[in-house]
Amino acid sequence: MTEIPEAFSFSHTKQPSGGVHDGVVTDVLCPFCGCLCDDIKVTVTAGTITGVENACTLGAQKFLADTGRLPKPIRRDEDGWHEISYDEAIEYCVEILKNANRPLLYGWSSSLTEAQAIGVHIAELIGGVIDSTSTVCHGPSILAIQEVGHPGCTLGQVKNRADVIVYWGANPTDAHPRHMSRYSTYVDAYFMHNSFRDRKIIVVDVRRTATADIADEFLQITPGGDYALASALRAIVRGRDDVVPAEVSGISKVQMMQVAEMLKNAKFGAVFFGLGVAMTRGKYKNVRNAIELVDELNRFTKCTITAMRGHWNVYGSNEVFTWISGYPYGIDYSRGIAYYNPGETTSADLLARREVDAAVIVGSDVGAHFPRACCEHLASIPTVLIDPYPSATTHLSTVQIPTAVNGIDAEPGTAYRMDGIPLQTRQVLPCTTHFTDYEIFSRIYARLKEEKGA
Ligand code: SF4
Repeated sequence: MTEIPEAFSFSHTKQPSGGVHDGVVTDVLCPFCGCLCDDIKVTVTAGTITGVENACTLGAQKFLADTGRLPKPIRRDEDGWHEISYDEAIEYCVEILKNANRPLLYGWSSSLTEAQAIGVHIAELIGGVIDSTSTVCHGPSILAIQEVGHPGCTLGQVKNRADVIVYWGANPTDAHPRHMSRYSTYVDAYFMHNSFRDRKIIVVDVRRTATADIADEFLQITPGGDYALASALRAIVRGRDDVVPAEVSGISKVQMMQVAEMLKNAKFGAVFFGLGVAMTRGKYKNVRNAIELVDELNRFTKCTITAMRGHWNVYGSNEVFTWISGYPYGIDYSRGIAYYNPGETTSADLLARREVDAAVIVGSDVGAHFPRACCEHLASIPTVLIDPYPSATTHLSTVQIPTAVNGIDAEPGTAYRMDGIPLQTRQVLPCTTHFTDYEIFSRIYARLKEEKGA
């Protein structure tokens, strides 16, 4: 078993953290989506956030709407919910993990990489399964990358070089509101004279979105038509347009020929794809076909492809899990070694088969997003939710442990942007009441090691 350094010594009472004062904090990392915008300015007055500059409405809301946080850990019994201490909550967590035959540790995409690493060590120690929210978002994209590789680049390269941008099955205007203004459509480029006017935007989607409204070419495909369209574009790019019918997935051959020409003539093309590709019919095969289209384009020009990761540090979870176990998500340690088989060792499948007998859910709302059968099973077993806020998952849990919010009042740590760049968070508020998820998992790990004599 891999050892981790003892980075924290714990006291039973949370101590005020130093170095956080009233004033304007600059270069703050937004803790909301996978863009990880690192240019946020936060004004703190009398220990409260009173102003946020540069963030989109989603990011600003995360900083400003600091209401409804759970003040203390809570436990449910036959009389309802009761406040308990952090010590009691952590002991409960240790107890259920220690006694479980098939424990599940799920979520992790709102956690710092430092906490994610301890999660993997806990899973290894107890022979459990650790899985991240990738399992219900870009998991298929990772499977495709495992098959055919990933011709990717940093968002900085896209910003400074890309003259043709494709958003496929993604609507950044609503889901990643600053993606276009920081990295693609609207941003100045170092290697282009008039990037705003010269860039061409292609949008592929099943409906006209706000992003489609600003596109130079909008391909409105029939639902589930992504694989066929990618195949047709590959054939055209390869010079085999003779095998392409007059219409594919609702797109005319004329428009496909135009788009293929735009892509081939780009100086630098950048494809961004969302769950509209990865989670529609065809799933990872769609992504594989899109990657292979990018490969074909690289016979003519430079072209890259990047997944629009949604959850804040979901990329970090895949990185950290892979460093330690060799696998990106859905890792099962019940055999004493890391084993990975999406569809078998992933959370929704384990819960639907009612295999799990204790669960720890970390910064994720399973109750709002998983199938009903999974939620019903979670509600029937000891489940601990580790999350600053009450959510639908609270109602499925026996204990909830609130944490400091990473990127706001938690101590600084590391998170990964959607292009795989690790960035450092900042702490803008002092935290005197809540432990961070890193501290909580460090304590759980230390106690489990004691119990196991490890
Ligand atoms: S685009 Fe994402 S990371 Fe950037 S400010 Fe908005 S929510 Fe935050």
